[in-house]
This record gives sequence, structure tokens and C-alpha cells, in this order.
Amino acid sequence: MGVEDRGDAARRRDAAVLQAVRQGVVGAGRPVVGLLDVRGVREAARGLREAFARAGPGGARALHAFAVKAAPLVPVLRLLAGEGLGCEVASPGELALARAAGVAPGRIVLDSPAKTTAELREALALGIAVNADSREELARLDALVAAVPAPPDLPLGLRVNPQVGGGSIGAFSTATETSKFGVALRDPGARDWLVRAYAERPWLTAVHAHVGSQGCPLELMAEGVRRVHELAREIDAAAGGRRVRTLDIGGGLPVNFASDEVTPTHDAYARVLAAAVPGLFDGAYGLVTEFGRSLLAKSGMILARVEYAKSAGGRRIAVTHAGAQVAVRTVFTPHAWPLRVAAYDARGRPKTSPAVAQDVAGPCCFAGDLVAVDRLLPRLDAGDHVALLDTGAYYFSNHFAYNTLPRPGVYGYAVDEQDVEGQAVRFATVRPPQSLAELVAESGAAHAADLSALR
Ligand SMILES: *Cc1c(COP(=O)(O)O)cnc(C)c1O
Repeated sequence: MGVEDRGDAARRRDAAVLQAVRQGVVGAGRPVVGLLDVRGVREAARGLREAFARAGPGGARALHAFAVKAAPLVPVLRLLAGEGLGCEVASPGELALARAAGVAPGRIVLDSPAKTTAELREALALGIAVNADSREELARLDALVAAVPAPPDLPLGLRVNPQVGGGSIGAFSTATETSKFGVALRDPGARDWLVRAYAERPWLTAVHAHVGSQGCPLELMAEGVRRVHELAREIDAAAGGRRVRTLDIGGGLPVNFASDEVTPTHDAYARVLAAAVPGLFDGAYGLVTEFGRSLLAKSGMILARVEYAKSAGGRRIAVTHAGAQVAVRTVFTPHAWPLRVAAYDARGRPKTSPAVAQDVAGPCCFAGDLVAVDRLLPRLDAGDHVALLDTGAYYFSNHFAYNTLPRPGVYGYAVDEQDVEGQAVRFATVRPPQSLAELVAESGAAHAADLSALR
């Protein structure tokens, strides 16, 4: 059962688009918005927790730290915290968001390959778990743990690169031979160095790996986890007892962008892990996970108005308000990050007219600003809407400020389950759209005269 029925989610999505148009959440003045299915997010979080709980007692106690970079939005972090999740952060900004969401320090994990001394000191002082990325960072931690009073059982760890190889997208493969992340486990002498590093540091109690992400098969990811589990046992054996207390197995579960099916599921991954890494879930080690994309992607969409429909060289082109500014990866690496596009009419109803090949273009002033090329879709006309599906992770926030286009507003939606036919939908603001005044201020308005005054 690697597949979950998402028919309900598709029905909720259609209801949300209809009501977003009707209630003016999207419209002429707000031609592009992000929409998030609150129920879908809750179900994904529960699905993850339950999948690990089913796998064994260690899974039931796991800390699932949501990778904040996938959706750095305070209300989203709060929603997930309400479902029992923590946060994985990799910058002072992400840490500030997690704290603003009310996530307790003990439920936050700090990763990042470039932590400054000040960031490390702050994390220790706050009692936030840290995974050092390199030998060099570990040397910094040596000095800090001696100087900064931290909670005695704070999980401090080291990121290991199990060097299992990459998936189909180079830029999203973290466990290649020469990856920039972690201590390369299979480099000459690395294993011995690692075992010694733990033996010499009673405070170093966690091992971290993150093998992913999009484009990586589950077996490859599980092999990475198997290698760090094996390393943890080796460290324990060398120390003659329990040295490692926490295994942080990262995130990286890929997402299906081709249909509404959720596949692979967290459950499927937990089962692959249980088979590949006997003992992983037996409770000997505390488990931490860091899923991002798999928790949010399927529950988000970017909804945009079609401003014009034109044609060139025999090709129909829908010029919409969703382009590279909201879908930067899709526009610049379309083969790695293709997105489904759903067509809705001017009133927000699904378009059912016969499919014709067309380009779906964005508003940016460069020719390649296309979110879909030669795509078969019901013929789009001016005033219609397009929804870029599965964009709940890494799209709302990875804004590309080309043409000074504003970051769109993001709204959560809940469909009244008693009244799905009546399509009663409530919206809540996750993030207001960036205003023109904010754009002007960010672009140096307060310093308007400074350059001219410089002689
Ligand atoms: C990005 C990242 C994650 C989350 O990856 P997903 O593919 O979104 O699950 C987890 N851990 C670390 C260290 C990361 O850099």
C-alpha cells in the first residue's frame, strides 16, 4: 500500500479555487496567491508520526523536526507543532521563525554547513540540538562546550556523509563522494577518526545523516541510514558501552509531482528502513527525522490569473501571473522540476474543454519564463486561472525578486467537511502579500540620495 487515495484532496482543491475566486482571495488586484490545504498538512504530519510509531518503539518516540526551509512560514510551523512536530533549522532566520512559532528549544535541531561561532554559541545557550557539519566545526564546538553552559543531555552530533551516491538530480543529491555536506565516511582514515572523535568527547552523542532528496530511490536513502546506524554501533562498541544516544536520519523523501497520488508514503519509507536497518526502530537510539518536501508539497498550490491569451508561430500562449518569481526551479530547470498545471475558468470552476497544446508563461520579462511548454490543457483564455499543483514546499518562500514582482500572499484553506457539496470554504492568512511600499523600502528608498551625494 504505497499509495494513498487523494481524491478528497483534489475535491478540496477545486472547492478552494472556486471560493478563492468568489471571495476575492485571488482577483484582479491579487493576481497570484499561494493556497495551502490545512487538512492535507495535518494528515501528512499524522501519517509520518503513525508510520514511525508502527515501525517500533523507537519510531513512536522519534522527534520529527520539519525542515523549515521547505515552508518557512510561522503559521505553518505552528500548525505542524500542533501535530507534534519540531523544526530543523539551518540559519538564524529559520531559527527565529521556529521560535516565533512557539516551538520549544528542545524540539529544534540546528543544521547548516556554515554555522558561525555566534550561531553555535546561541544554540548551546538556548538548548538547541546541533549537528556539526565538519571536523572544522567540531573543533569550534570543542571550545564552545567548555565555555557555554548548555543542558547536560543536549544532543550534539556530527553529520556524516555515507557516500551512497546520488539520485537523478545532481543538485539534490547530498551523499555523493564529493558532497559538500558532512564528514565523508568512506574517505581514507575517516572511520577511525570518527570513532576516536566520539570516544574523546563525552558530549558528542548524536550521529546525523541526510541522504536525499528529490530523485533519490528509497533503497539508496535507507542504505545511507544503514551505514550511519552501523557507525553508531561501532562507536558504541569501541567505547565499550552506550556512547551514541541519538540517530538523526534526515529527510529527503521524494514527492510524486505527476499525479494526486502520494507516493512514496512515509509508511513505505519506514518499512524500507525497517527492512534495511534491523534494530533502527527498537528504541536503542533516539530517532530524529527532518522531512520537508514530503510533508508539505502535495498540500499547496499557486493560483494565478491568466492576464492574456495570445499566439505566436502557431503556439498558443497563456500569459499568467505565475512565473519564475514563484516557480524559480521549475522555470530554470524544467526537466528536474516539472509541475502539473490545472486549468480553471474565470469563475474558478475546473475547465473541461478539449485539450490543446499551449505554453503557460509567467509575467517576468525574459523569454524563458515558462512554467509549462507545449502542454496539453483545456484552452486557456484571458480571465481564466491556472493552478500550479504540489507547490506547498519550496515554492511559496523561494521567491525570485525579478522585475520587482512582490511575494504573493499565502492563505490556508479548510473545506467544511459537512458541506463539501455546498463547498463552504474558510481561508486564513498565512502571509500577506508584499506591498508596493515594502518593495520600495527594501530597494533602498531610505537611501535614495546617498549614491548621488557620494563624491
Ligand atoms: C533540506 C534538508 C532537509 C529536508 O529535505 P526534504 O527533501 O525537504 O525532505 C532535511 N535535512 C537537511 C539537513 C536538509 O538540508
